[in-house]
Order: sequence, then structure tokens, then C-alpha cells
Amino acid sequence: MLYSIPFFSMVKGEIAVKWKKELIVLINVLLCSFAVLTGCEDIAIEDTAINDIIIEDIENEYDDIETVEVASVVDGDTIKVYLEGERYTIRMIGIDTPESVHPDESKNTIYGQKASDYAKQTIKKGQTVYLSKDVSDRDKYDRLLRYVWLEKPVDVNDENEIRQKMYNAKVVLDGYANVYEYAPNNTLYDLFLSFEAEAAENNRGLWAENGLNNENIERTEAQKQSEEDIFIGNKNSKKLHSSYCTDLPQEKNRIYFDSKEEALEQGYEIDSKCIY
Ligand SMILES: [Zn+2]
Repeated sequence: MLYSIPFFSMVKGEIAVKWKKELIVLINVLLCSFAVLTGCEDIAIEDTAINDIIIEDIENEYDDIETVEVASVVDGDTIKVYLEGERYTIRMIGIDTPESVHPDESKNTIYGQKASDYAKQTIKKGQTVYLSKDVSDRDKYDRLLRYVWLEKPVDVNDENEIRQKMYNAKVVLDGYANVYEYAPNNTLYDLFLSFEAEAAENNRGLWAENGLNNENIERTEAQKQSEEDIFIGNKNSKKLHSSYCTDLPQEKNRIYFDSKEEALEQGYEIDSKCIY
């Protein structure tokens, strides 16, 4: 039953990458059982061939740009499009905007409304947009996971093109979305984090009214700090702290290290509250 589901959720004859992996596992299990029964060596060759075909297929998907018409703009990070005559919901990769159309109305905020207005000004119903994939085809709600391009990109990995043409990047740069990790779709995650920091620093969009979540910004800053930091060990507890920690040991119990690694080698354990 489990393996029959993907066949009903095919788009353009493609099975989502996730399902392909499971399919490979299933095929391998079947081939292995068969090989045990027959002892046939050809099976191994056939097995490789199947893997090759599937890997090639996945690589081709990365290059694919889908040209679609916008059916509607749902909110700051979701649109609906027509793709080959069918309507699909697109969840834009790598971003999260405040809620505006959540069924639980207490979650909808004025910031969500503003992010939604931004999206509706930037993307119009009936407009042609271009979609590119990262790793996954869909999320668990069966929405297509895509980067949405307002103009067709020449190189989907070029930072200038991403800044100028990709909605997912623009909404972060203009301060209407937080960056949101959509593992394993992380190709642009670090770049997006730098866009988010740039927007926050310049008080763009919702940053000017504290309308976004600053967790990413704080984490990035803490990470940067800890890379340049000196480390302070507590000789009694053998805990290792950042010099910025609010929980530092008394002077007489301190031991200083230039690197985390040096302390770890001497049996110190990291304080996860202050070292990332
Ligand atoms: Zn600490």
C-alpha cells in the first residue's frame, strides 16, 4: 500500500525524489531476494543500471525551469499556478512570512497582512513566472516546493540573478520574510541568511516595526562571535564557556583556551547555552 501512493501523485510522469529513493530501496530488496534464490550475478549489473538511470533523471530535474501562469497569490510565501493546465499550490523554498490566512485566526497578524500585500504587489494574477527546484518535489501537504522567478534566470545559482529576479530572495531582502530551513532543500540557505541579516541591519520592510522573528539573526551573530572567541574552562566542572557567557566560573577556577578543539582534547565539555 505504502508504495502505491507515489503512482497516484505523479506530475508530468515524475515521481518525487523522496519516493524515488524509497523505490530504489524496494527494487534493491526485491533484487536481493531474487539474487539469493537464483545466485545470479547479472542481477548486480542490472541493479547498477537502474541506479544510473534514476540519478541521471534527478540531475536533469535540477536544470528544469518550469514556465507557469499565476492563478492566485495566497499569502507572502504561497502562490497557486497553472502548470500544463493543472492548478498547483507552490510553497516557496527557504522563506517564512507571518501568517495572514491561517485557519486559526489568532495566528494571523497585521504583519502577515503586510507580507501578503507585498506578495500581491510583486506577483500578479495571470503573470508568467518561472519555477526551479532544489532537492524535493513536494512537501508533506503535497505542495510543490519551488523557487519562484519573476524573470527567467540564465544561471539559477548566480547571486546577482537571485537578488534581482527571484521572489524568494527579494521578499527576504525587502524585509517581509524570515529565512526558514527546508531541509534537505538548503542550497541557498546560507545566502538567504546573509540577505536576512542585510535586511534587518537596514531596517527594511517589517524589520522597521519589529514584525519579523530575529532568531536567525541572533544565532548567526552568536555563531560569528564564537568563531572569534576565546574559550574559558571551569577547572571544577570541566565545562567550557564562551567569554560572552553569563555563567562564567570564578577567576581562580578558570582555564583559558584559544580554541574549542584544544579544550575538547583535554576533556572539557561544551556549554551548549553559550557555544554553538
Ligand atoms: Zn556558558
